[in-house]
Amino acid sequence: MNKNILIVGAGFSGAVIARELAEENYKVKVIDSRSHIAGNCYSERDEQTKVMVHTYGPHIFHTDNQQVWEFICNHCEMMPYTNRVKATVAGQVFSLPINLHTINQFFKKTCSPDEAKKLIESKGDVSIIDPKTFEEQALRFVGKELYEAFFKGYTIKQWGMNPSELPASILKRLPVRFNYDDNYFNHKYQGMPREGYTPIVASILNHKNISVELDTEYDPSSKNNYEHIFFSGPLDGYFNYDLGRLGYRTLDFEKFTYNGDYQGCAVMNYCELEIPYTRITEHKYFSPWEKHDSSVCYREYSRLCSEKDTPYYPIRQMGEMSLLEKYLNKAEMEEDITFIGRLGTYRYLDMDVTILEALNTAEMFINNKKEGKKMPSFAVDAR
Ligand code: UDP
Repeated sequence: MNKNILIVGAGFSGAVIARELAEENYKVKVIDSRSHIAGNCYSERDEQTKVMVHTYGPHIFHTDNQQVWEFICNHCEMMPYTNRVKATVAGQVFSLPINLHTINQFFKKTCSPDEAKKLIESKGDVSIIDPKTFEEQALRFVGKELYEAFFKGYTIKQWGMNPSELPASILKRLPVRFNYDDNYFNHKYQGMPREGYTPIVASILNHKNISVELDTEYDPSSKNNYEHIFFSGPLDGYFNYDLGRLGYRTLDFEKFTYNGDYQGCAVMNYCELEIPYTRITEHKYFSPWEKHDSSVCYREYSRLCSEKDTPYYPIRQMGEMSLLEKYLNKAEMEEDITFIGRLGTYRYLDMDVTILEALNTAEMFINNKKEGKKMPSFAVDAR
């Protein structure tokens, strides 16, 4: 007779694992300290305008992985959507990610793709052989002028520190293109769920073997009641922060409604340091198939996450890796618990990666169980 499985957190990580185990006849309890499911992907219609609002900031679904795409499409009607981001810099509007239009507009040129490639190569600092930091990566591959215009100010605002203290991996998220393709993502599949993300997670959790309890904190004294726990809360929070706090950024959203079209696109970045917010999102543009006369916008501000705030982005500052290492070592000593997802593994994860890892984690658990093997504290490399 199996004991129950406890899953802490009703975001994508927790919901997907819950569903995969429920399908295998495990009885799964999912708890969440918030009063709603779907974690930071939660979306709901604004009462006044009926616009679908991404309550915790914009989420655009994109992936190269067919299994993940099929999984999500099984739980929603996915609508065609292409993320096209604009940036306001020095009184002009540019196209992102950096593409041929951006390069030509910025340098006031009419370069062909080959000419633009040569131009940008000539701007890159070739003395940087193995870029490790965000700044080195930018200076090496786009050069000082584009770095300072588009990345430096935005990144200082977003991360609260100099790009020389951040890993290159953050910038590697963004492509540089030598054609006029302004699709923000390189992935094969991209879309937006017709009714937002909350019904997707509700559908994933909708199984006779899954029970969900909201407004419920994890109680460590209940650990022995469960055969296994999957924990998607903050890794340092699990240990009561007793070695210190891992750094997170939190976001503040200044929500406003506008009678009409406010900015004409979903995302407008403000890359200059002097402007205190990083971007403005106009949420009706995330559902371009809908028609709304009024608009709901978020001015987005980033700041260091304090104890009372919602953690969004794990910083993974270069200087903080030894503290992370200590928490990972501590977590590896724990038994019958697996740390999952963005907060549980302290990594900056997109939704598709979160889902894929959750599918793989559930599969590992099921297989290990069959083979009589223990489930490790981490099913992924969190280092
Ligand atoms: N970034 C920037 N300027 C921009 C957009 C992005 O400097 O106009 C940097 C910034 O450091 C950001 C990173 O690139 O954190 C990754 O951008 P992405 O759009 O993936 O951020 P997200 O939407 O996940 O916040």
